[in-house]
Amino acid sequence: MQVLKFGGTSVANAENIKKVKDILQLKKEAKTIVVVSALGGVTDELLKCGSLAANGNSNYKENVQKLTERHLTLVKELLPLTNQSSVLSFVMQQFNEVEDICNGIFLLNDFTDRTKDRILSFGELISSQIISAYLASEKLPNKWVDTRKLIHTDSQFTRATVQFEKTQQSIQSYFAEANDELFIVPGFIASDDKGNTTTLGRGGSDYTAAIIGAALNATVVEIWTDVSGMMTADPRMVNNAKRIKQISYHEAMELSHFGAKVIYPPTIQPLMSKNIPVWIKNTFTPHDEGTLLHSDVYRNGNIITGISSINKIALLSLEGSGMVGIPGFSKRLFEALANNSINVILITQASSEHSICVGVDEHFVAKAKDAIDKAFSFEIEKGSVNPLIIETDLSIVALVGDKMKSHPGISGRMFSALGRNGVNVRAIAQGSSERNISAVIATADIKKALNVLHEEFFEVSYKEVNLFIAGTGNVGGKLLAQLAQQQEYLQQNLRLQLRVIGLTNSRKMHFNEEGIDLKNWREILDNSEPADFDSFVSRIHSKNLRNSVFADVTATEKVANVYDKIFSGSISIVACNKIACSSPYSYYKKLKDLARDQNVSFLFETNVGASLPIIGSINDLLRSGDRINKMQAVLSGTLNFVFNNYNGERSFAEVVRQAQNEGYTEPDPRLDLSGKDVMRKIMILAREAGEQMEMEDITNNSFMPESCMQGSVEDFYAEMERQEDYFKKLYNEAASQGKKLKFVASYENGKAAVGLQHIDPAHDFYHLYGKDNIVLFYTNRYVDQPMVVKGAGAGAEVTASGVFADIIRTVRA
Ligand code: ADP
Ligand code: ASP
Ligand code: MG
Repeated sequence: MQVLKFGGTSVANAENIKKVKDILQLKKEAKTIVVVSALGGVTDELLKCGSLAANGNSNYKENVQKLTERHLTLVKELLPLTNQSSVLSFVMQQFNEVEDICNGIFLLNDFTDRTKDRILSFGELISSQIISAYLASEKLPNKWVDTRKLIHTDSQFTRATVQFEKTQQSIQSYFAEANDELFIVPGFIASDDKGNTTTLGRGGSDYTAAIIGAALNATVVEIWTDVSGMMTADPRMVNNAKRIKQISYHEAMELSHFGAKVIYPPTIQPLMSKNIPVWIKNTFTPHDEGTLLHSDVYRNGNIITGISSINKIALLSLEGSGMVGIPGFSKRLFEALANNSINVILITQASSEHSICVGVDEHFVAKAKDAIDKAFSFEIEKGSVNPLIIETDLSIVALVGDKMKSHPGISGRMFSALGRNGVNVRAIAQGSSERNISAVIATADIKKALNVLHEEFFEVSYKEVNLFIAGTGNVGGKLLAQLAQQQEYLQQNLRLQLRVIGLTNSRKMHFNEEGIDLKNWREILDNSEPADFDSFVSRIHSKNLRNSVFADVTATEKVANVYDKIFSGSISIVACNKIACSSPYSYYKKLKDLARDQNVSFLFETNVGASLPIIGSINDLLRSGDRINKMQAVLSGTLNFVFNNYNGERSFAEVVRQAQNEGYTEPDPRLDLSGKDVMRKIMILAREAGEQMEMEDITNNSFMPESCMQGSVEDFYAEMERQEDYFKKLYNEAASQGKKLKFVASYENGKAAVGLQHIDPAHDFYHLYGKDNIVLFYTNRYVDQPMVVKGAGAGAEVTASGVFADIIRTVRA
């Protein structure tokens, strides 16, 4: 004896029902009872008809009509012409009855739970009759049985309680006498002592299968649905969810109780008491193995079996000084809830006994408030207990696993993973069985939380990084190319799954949660929506993805000005844009503090010396207890390139233009030539070394004639041509003494200065070629001989690689 249950999607249309028939043909050896749901979506539609009628909206007629047609079409598609007429008239007659009931609701303006169950029962009654007739026509003779005659309940309509003894007797005696091999029965429905139709609660067809299976001591119960088994998380929420091969009854119960819809929670108890194995199988890929629920589970590896969630939770908190040390408060609280049939999903009580907190379904809120305030009215009036506090828009996320109790540290990992991703936990509960740890969080965070926890406990192999990039110019373009090239390497070697989710430049922006195809980003961006930076930022927040990183590869103030907003969503920032770190000290400090508070990274190594480890070295020195006393540096790749290439043969202006064409300069080269860019850099280094420095504190001995700095960039080039003699003189003064010109930044004793210097051949700076940068650090530990960092300090390729390295650091920190 076996019981097979086919859910709503499995019987949603003719094509699917044919798949059900194929499965049954392979299974026909044993005596089989097939439980079916209503066609997918029909129960909701029937409910809608009733609600429309109850609200005085005559559109219910149209809805009933649509449902009738859907079922008539199904009959015509499934049955040979000769067998259709009796089933078609049955369907018509049933829906006439549905319409009659709706008419009654409409006229009386009254939609009781009893009538609700009456209407809903038609979904299963009709689907099961159609399927029975179809199977008979396909050489699968069968008997249709009305489950209302077999399953007896109390009169708690919409979620009736089964009277097990009576039910068991009915089922056993019916099947003992029946000689058929195959039975088709409607799921979900039952009847009370007076013969009224009742239902077992939404999703209750699974339960029907379990009740029958347990009564008959079935060898197996199979739940056929639209997923290949019970998964480690709801596959609609977590893309990487994996099939659970085997699961204990207890674990399955916890998971389904906490929202894993794949099996209706009450289903498991009757089967567990008889130790009947349950398979969850996929109607659409019947050869997939599925999930086995039973008592002896052998599973190696994972401590956590699955993660699930429930939405629409409200948290009720009863607080007050009068509760401390006085017994009986919780008893009264739970009595008040129970007397009003309010189901409690989660309970926590602080050990101070100052407050008790319970989680209930949101729709109980008004009833609960009323009941509890009434129950404690005396204490509330006295002031020893506060009126009930209610919070809504909450969800519960739960980790489930039998093995958790023998493993310390699971909740620590759970909460630190949530904390790292800015998910605030409102309440925590751990069952004494230690099979479940639940956290109450904002509903807005639920998808992120499920994915964070799934990654933490099931995807040890991969960590996802969700990247949002602003800027697709020189550096941005190179960064995207490098990311495209390294994606596979990172996945294989660092186990990082790095995806660009959002991309914007000043014209266009594009989002793709699956990750933008980095080989075609230009084309994708060109065909995308117009850029709007404020909405780009708000969408980063609303996506609320774990391990989010914002990379600023622009040089614009508008972007730098919103870092504080970006941090507030627990998003790390990597910037080659120097504007934020060289803005007034107060903003720089605020950003550093915000990053620390939000537990995210703020990395900007490329602000100084492209990807050379300059800022990183300062950080390492300070963290290990050293102190920076003095820095001497050549920090402008552009100026170094210019002075290395200028010897009076080509004009100074021409050499500057070459530097710009080769991508070494800032977008406005005057920032480099004026020395302002070097000032910003030495200030950032001084700040990182612990100095509270502003731009005004830095002396700039600029070598550029004031006249070059007026007007546009083209005016600047033209004026430099006119000033060629001046530049030649600068060069000759140094060259005639065998020296080179270098634009040097220095910092000592809290003071910084920048300016052109003559460098003699003995100096560290003399042999500095191309666009190289150099920094000499004099510290408590490097007293006479400085620590030296030297190398290419400008260029899109190296800057992009520095940004790339910072991005990786945000997740490996
Ligand atoms: P049926 O109509 O066959 O009873 P349901 O819609 O009730 O099917 O349940 C199957 C659905 O449950 C799946 O499509 C899936 O989206 C959802 N689900 C939620 N959590 C899980 C989980 N942990 N494992 C598998 N499916 C889940
Ligand atoms: N048709 C019912 C529902 O949608 C029962 C079920 O499908 O399990 O809730
Ligand atoms: Mg279901």
